[in-house]
Amino acid sequence: MSKFLNEKYQNLEVYVPGEQPQDMEYIKLNTNESPYPPAPSVIKAIDQAAVSDLRLYPDPECAGLIKKLACSYGVKPENIYLSNGSDDILNFAFMALSGFWGKVYFPEISYGFYQVYADLYQLDAVKVPLRPDFSIDYKDYCGVQGMVVIANPNAPTGLALSLEEIRKILDSNPDQVVIIDEAYVDFGGTSAVPLVAEYDNLLVVQTFSKSRSMAGARLGFAIANAELIADLNRIKYSTNPYNINRLTLLAGEAALDAADYYQSRCAKIIETRAYTASALEGLGFTVLPSLTNFLFVKSDHMGGQQLYEALKAKGILIRHFSSPKIQDYNRITIGTREQMNVMLDRIQEILRQDTSADWLNANTSKNRKDR
Ligand code: PMP
Repeated sequence: MSKFLNEKYQNLEVYVPGEQPQDMEYIKLNTNESPYPPAPSVIKAIDQAAVSDLRLYPDPECAGLIKKLACSYGVKPENIYLSNGSDDILNFAFMALSGFWGKVYFPEISYGFYQVYADLYQLDAVKVPLRPDFSIDYKDYCGVQGMVVIANPNAPTGLALSLEEIRKILDSNPDQVVIIDEAYVDFGGTSAVPLVAEYDNLLVVQTFSKSRSMAGARLGFAIANAELIADLNRIKYSTNPYNINRLTLLAGEAALDAADYYQSRCAKIIETRAYTASALEGLGFTVLPSLTNFLFVKSDHMGGQQLYEALKAKGILIRHFSSPKIQDYNRITIGTREQMNVMLDRIQEILRQDTSADWLNANTSKNRKDR
């Protein structure tokens, strides 16, 4: 830390992204990326001419992409805000939309960045415990005195609230912004976007990072009442008006034109999720019912840290969180069926090394047949 850093940032606990080790090639199941490449038309959109045009600033209004998104989601262009990854929208919302109370409510177990943004803007963070089964009790967010932020489906649990429950949160907080972070909604969840027409306090946040295989392009968007969108634009034009680069704008438009491609990839991921969940259950894991592109799982034979380390040694990265309430669990991104089979084989090897896993040997041949 230099002597120049403002005192108010000196104790910040920063967000720690999933590791991206470069020492060897891993099967990466730790950061919820898509195992599939972008649609061929997206790759084609980044041609020589597009690269030559990098000398020019991009359109600060992002008019073409916003128009297409508005069409896709059945809203007006003034209901859409685009950002350099959805983290940027969350950043602005914590910065500017926490309103009168300077307080923000979010689930105790959720996306780690919420706490970081709350600290960054010195907001009072109310971390609401989950139920013992890791579900969110919507009643905890009704009639509160601050902004509400809920990932739906939640991460890393994969569990979702119903639209009716979200409606109750919105109804009971007419003077607070309610952010529904739908990073994973395309893998079987129900989007709150249709509620935007009814609620001026709803900000829905989505991303191209997961279901549209564009984590590296950094493209997120918010859908909300036009006034909330204008607020986000006010912050954007006070920080970085050219927040989406030219190549990402082109890729985003091409991705929206390739909706069928992405739907079929999401369907595959959902299918592989069910397959992996039942295979893991067969190996003695507890698996939460996920509506996302990851599974949150607990082995009945080893701790989360132990499994993470053992799989990493075998070339497979999964995510482990050290916070006490979830330290027995791991979050595993759904890859291709082939990647999942390699992971399942490696887990069986690891369990077999554990002498207490005699039962496994009896079950192994059955498991193999199931695949
Ligand atoms: N919300 C949640 C719940 C996430 O898991 C992530 C990805 N880490 C994000 C938002 C941010 O995604 P991105 O910035 O890539 O759009």
